[in-house]
Order: sequence, then C-alpha cells, then structure tokens
Amino acid sequence: MARLTFYLASGNAHKAAELQALAEASALTVTVASARAIGGMPEVVEDSGTFVGNARIKALALRPRLPAGAWALADDSGLCVDALNGAPGVESAYYAGPQGDSRANLAKLVDVLRDVPESRRGAQFRCVLLALGPDGAEQIFEGGCPGRLLAQPRGQGGFGYDPLFVPDGYDASLAELGDAIKNTVSHRARAWQRLADWVRLQS
Ligand code: IMP
Repeated sequence: MARLTFYLASGNAHKAAELQALAEASALTVTVASARAIGGMPEVVEDSGTFVGNARIKALALRPRLPAGAWALADDSGLCVDALNGAPGVESAYYAGPQGDSRANLAKLVDVLRDVPESRRGAQFRCVLLALGPDGAEQIFEGGCPGRLLAQPRGQGGFGYDPLFVPDGYDASLAELGDAIKNTVSHRARAWQRLADWVRLQS
C-alpha cells in the first residue's frame, strides 16, 4: 500500500518520541510526523471524560492543519489505580491541578497512596490511539500495561508516573527499565501493535 503519514495530535514530546521509536521498530510503510511540521498542536480542552473521547477531541483539532491525504494520530492515556477506583485515569495529566505539572502529579500520588499496603497497590496504564483518516473515518486501538506502584519514585528515564510504576514481570520501575524495555511492554506499545496489525491488513 502507499506510505501512510500520521501527524501526531499531541504536544507531548515524550509520547512523540515513543511513538516514533515504535513506528521505526515495526518496519511498516508509515511515517509518524510531529504536529510541529504543520504549525503545532492547537490548544484543546480534554473534557469528554473518556480516553477515546479525548483522543477524538485532539485528532479533530489537528484535522484542519493536515496536508491532503494525511492522517491524524491522537494518543490519550493515563494511569488507573485500583485503590483509587481507576483514578486518576483520564485526569492523569492534571491530577495535581490544571497546570499539568508532572512532578506535582507524581508527588500527589505518592502522598495519596502512603497508607496503601503493598498488596493493594495494583494499577494499570491505559492508552488509546485514535487514527483519523482523510475521509473522516476513525480507527481506534487500545493497549494496557498492568503492574503495581512503588512507595517512592525510582529511576530517571521515561516521563510522568513511570518512576512509580513497576510493570508485571519486572522488579524495576519503567523509569529504571528504560525506553527499550518500556517500548516492549507499555500500554502505548500494545496499542501501537494493534495499529500495526491493522496497517498490515490494509496492504
Ligand atoms: P494526556 O496527554 O491527556 O493523554 O495525558 C497523559 C498523562 O497520563 C500524562 O501526562 C502522564 O501523566 C500519564 N501517562 C500517560 N502515559 C504515560 C507513560 O507512558 N508513562 C507515564 N505517565 C504516562
């Protein structure tokens, strides 16, 4: 099939780097381009209350800037904590306030969970990738990464809640494991895998 170009409907450089690495590793006929190349990601209000709804808001916001034939690709993701009935979930980026400060978000989560015992510290990262085609058709791909939360952050890699999150099957946080391992187990990697399967079916 002809090469697909996805413009990322995101201003988050960490997500962009991860999705570009995933695209390169999957050897598909796709290009994942930054929204910067087409004037940047417009400001949006992510108020749908769902990952799919928020991803759709982002993809539709970028749509007027897309070159002919290109796709928008939006990522909406977050951390769902068992002991908090799934919070912060879709609110993960703004858990500690509207300024979207990821250090403050992490500090708040550490504090909120300080009395939660090891046995109740399960959590799951969730990711929705929504691809919006030139004809307005949507393709939605979801991925999850189950694990548990540490009492204190560990490691320097990744972003957001990575220093607190240990994926199932490991004893180190995503921030300690680093990008290469994160990109094999993460919610984003699993959603990307589904997108990749769909792209292969189109050829
Ligand atoms: P969004 O930009 O509205 O989708 O918010 C995503 C938020 O979820 C980020 O700001 C992080 O707080 C959190 N998040 C999503 N994916 C990850 C990840 O891979 N690692 C750590 N935190 C993440």
